[in-house]
Parts: sequence; C-alpha cells; structure tokens
Amino acid sequence: MARVGHKYIFVLGGVMSGVGKGVASSSMGLLLQQRGYKVNLVKIDPYLNVDAGTMNPTEHGEVFVLKSGLETDQDMGNYERFLNRDLGPEDYMTSGMVYKAVIERERALGYGGKFVEAIPHVRDEIMERLERAADSNGSNISVIEIGGTVGDFQNALFIEAARVMKLKNPDDVAFVLVSYLPVPGTIGEMKTKPTQNAVRDLNSYGVQADFILARSNVAMDEKRKEKLAIWCNVPAERIISAPDVDSIYDVPINFERDNLGDLLLDKLRLSKDTPADWGDWKTFVEKTKIERPTVRIGIIGKYFDTGDFVLSDAYLSIIEALKFSGAELGIKPIIEWLNAKDYVEGSERGVSVEDLKQYDAILVPGGFGETGIEGKIAAIKFARENKIPYFGICYGMQLMVVEYARNVLGLTDAHTMEINPNTANPVVAVMDAQKKHIAEGNYGGTMRLGTYVENIKPGTIAHEAYGADSIEERHRHRYEINPAYVQQITDAGMVFSGTSPDGVLMEVAELPRETHPFFLGTQAHPELQARPLAPHPLFTEFLKAAFARKGV
Ligand code: GLN
Repeated sequence: MARVGHKYIFVLGGVMSGVGKGVASSSMGLLLQQRGYKVNLVKIDPYLNVDAGTMNPTEHGEVFVLKSGLETDQDMGNYERFLNRDLGPEDYMTSGMVYKAVIERERALGYGGKFVEAIPHVRDEIMERLERAADSNGSNISVIEIGGTVGDFQNALFIEAARVMKLKNPDDVAFVLVSYLPVPGTIGEMKTKPTQNAVRDLNSYGVQADFILARSNVAMDEKRKEKLAIWCNVPAERIISAPDVDSIYDVPINFERDNLGDLLLDKLRLSKDTPADWGDWKTFVEKTKIERPTVRIGIIGKYFDTGDFVLSDAYLSIIEALKFSGAELGIKPIIEWLNAKDYVEGSERGVSVEDLKQYDAILVPGGFGETGIEGKIAAIKFARENKIPYFGICYGMQLMVVEYARNVLGLTDAHTMEINPNTANPVVAVMDAQKKHIAEGNYGGTMRLGTYVENIKPGTIAHEAYGADSIEERHRHRYEINPAYVQQITDAGMVFSGTSPDGVLMEVAELPRETHPFFLGTQAHPELQARPLAPHPLFTEFLKAAFARKGV
C-alpha cells in the first residue's frame, strides 16, 4: 500500500477542536518546504457532505474554492497561503467523498460480489486517495490534517488508515498531536491531564504520538514539558510549546525557533542539508506589525447570526487579502462589519446609509439569497453617488450592476433572477447551462466553479491593477450579468473591463476614474488567490483608493 520513500505526517487534534490544527499543519508544511522539500498539505474532513459547497458559512466558515473548482474547507485556503502555491483536488477529502466512491464502485460490481465493509474497503480507499495526492504533484512529504478530535467516532477510520500506513513503512510516517492545555482561572496553572488523556485515547487506536504541539494561551514551562514527556511517552524535545500569537504568520517562525523542522526531518530520516531561508516571510510578517496609517473599510455582509467569531470565518480570505495588500502598501486596514439588513428601509435598527460616509471604503463580498439585499444595493448607491471607493466581489458585482440599472438607466425593477425570476429587467440572469441544475434541484458542485481565463481591457482600472491583458481568477456563482443588457449598461457609462475570452460573460465592471475614484466589481473571487508573498492587485488598488480618500 503506502509507497516506501514518500513521507506522511498526520496531524491530529487532542482535547478539543478549534485550537489551530490548520495553522499548525500549514506552518509545518512551510517549515519543510523551506528546507527544500516539495510538500503537499491534505485536509480530511470527517463529515458526510461530499464537499463543502452546500454548507452554510455560519456553521462551517467560508467555502474555499480550489483552482480545479472543488469546494473545500477554509483550511485549504490557509495551506495555499502558507505554501504560496495552488493545491489540487486530490489534496482534500471528506467521509462523504470517500463513501460515495466506495458505494459507486459497489454498484458497478467493482468488488466482485464480496461484502463491502468499512475495513478493509473504506480504509483502503482512504489510503489510495492519500497516495494519489502524493503522486499528483510529485511531492516528497504530505502533511495530512485529520479534522475533529481523537476519540470522535467519525474520524476513526482515517486514524486507522494512518496506523496501517505506519505499520507498513514505520520510517515514513509521523504523528503530530495538536493538543490544548487549559489554564483554568480558578487554579491559575497549566493542566496537562486532558492532553495525557488524549494521548492515551490515541494509544487505544494503536497509534503513538511522535510530537505534541502544546497549544495554550501561554507558553509551556520545562517542568510541565518533562511531566508530559513521561506520561505521554514523547521525548521532551518533541513537545513544542505553541502559545497564542498575535499573527498566525508568526507560527512557522516560532516552530523554527523550537527546532521543529530539524526534529521532523530527523524523525522521517530526511536530510537536513538545505538550510531554511526565512527572508521573504520574515519581511512580510514585519510589515504586518509596524506602525502604519490606517484605513477604515466597511464590509457589508449578512452572516451575522451566530456571533462575531463566525463572521470573520465566513469572510476569512477577504480579511487576509486586505492584510496582504495593506502590508505591501504600508497601510493598516481596519475592518468594520456592517450588517446589510440594517440599511434596508424600515429595518429594525434602521441605520442611515449616510453613516457610510465615515468609511474610507466599502466592500460587498460574495453571498447568496435575499437577506439584506436591498440594504446592500442602498449602500452601493450611496458609495457611487458619494465617490466612496467601492469593491464588489461576486454578488457585490452583480448588485452593483443591479443598482446601476435601476438608478442610472432608470430600469426601476431591474433585479437578479436569483431573487426575482420574473422581473421584467433581469440584468443578472441565470445562464442556460445552469437552468437544468436548478430545475432538477441539483445544487452540489454545479455552480460555475474554479479557474477561468479573463481578458482585461487596456486603459481600465482593472488593467492598471493586473498589468496584463489576460489573467486567471477563481469563480463560484450560478448567475451572470445578462448579455442582453450589456450594450445598454455600457452606453450609460459603466465599463466591462474584464470578459470571458469569447466576450460573452462579464467578469469585471467599473466606472471610469473620471467619474469615480474606484467603483469596481469582479464576478470572480480574487481573495482566493491572494497570498502573503503575492498580494492580489485588485485588493491593492482598492486600498490605494481608500487611502487616497482618507487623505482628502
Ligand atoms: N449568488 C450569486 C450567484 O450565485 C453570487 C454568488 C457569490 O457571491 N459567490 O451567482
């Protein structure tokens, strides 16, 4: 099964979830990449959804779309941002995806009339998928994050697959437990017992942790490290203290300081000859920390229902994209979350759009459905009329065109067919390819997904930003600007500065600089391609405009 020579690092969670396994995995990936190895990071989500596309962002955080179009967990976004490269669809799996493949094979008589069982068939499917991921991009090392916590029923089969891989090639597999060490207020001291129990739980699967990453709000002292070492059977130097940090981008540097790169390479019997070069990464991290002038960005969203911490997960890639461009420009973006519902006329809180004047720029991100939509349109109108820099992403571009059609072209009933399929002026429409999916209720993985080429029109803001005639962006939407209205909208002054190569689909819309300093929308999701070491040019251009307004 597992091929000799390729190395696998399995990252598991102990005590509780949500303590930063994704960041720890990304950081280990970067550590090893810095040492000259080609690394792929793999996320395993134990739930039964076949992909993350049908999940509500308030439950699950943002849906991160890969280049291939696969809709995945937000951790994949962190992986790509840390590694500074695209990952493939092989690098992601859910239980649903694995079971679906097994069941489909069974239906096609692929198991030759045998019983089909969790072990060996599902386990072997998992192992084959991990090997395919390793093969698909020629990497030397796979860092595989198994979602959830040790002891969950639903990730047991994945741990079992990992155990068997280790059994077959003991030198090629390492286990890292990312555990949590609480410091209860009443006791005031860090407690190791929950982690000891997590290690013991893991032992009950036949798996011994090789490393413990000790997550806590404070650093772990030597005394506790020694205690954990004895109780958990893990050498003290392989217990790494991972206290809370200001920025997730510090984590790989902290791990390096604790020698984790060398320790992992030793464990996997890999050469340590190539030293790490942290120059660019450190420069980036420093740029995010220096004192800088600020700009206030109002993001008008709708995923407000379950509290603020979820909110930032729902728009994670946008937050990061603003951070990267801010670091590049020496500007610190301060994000304020504005609830689209509040700007709807007659709403409970009834906030006046005039309030938006205080912001240096406004952003309307992607979204679905009716909630708060009239509030977003009112805000866009205000930004246009008051020359407040505006950046519309996906839904934010579609609504920008709806607003323009209503208030500039005078098509007062203009709408997107997503909300009003019977409008007389469907300026945002569903394309033929999508009609069948909607009619059949076939919603999973059927949007316009993944990377498409766009042509960018010279002499426009988009062209100035991208500096290229042809670019690629990732998509996730069902609706498009209706080609039947393009001429009319163009005649009224809006410029479609990005189109599909055949000219049919409108990918970027903007107002000329003479009319407005920055009023631009993109049908794609540029935030998905913004990276610490490669900020996205549209976000950079947007922040420049925000800063210019602040200066006025
Ligand atoms: N709801 C819109 C569509 O499906 C926009 C989607 C998005 O913003 N990602 O086309």
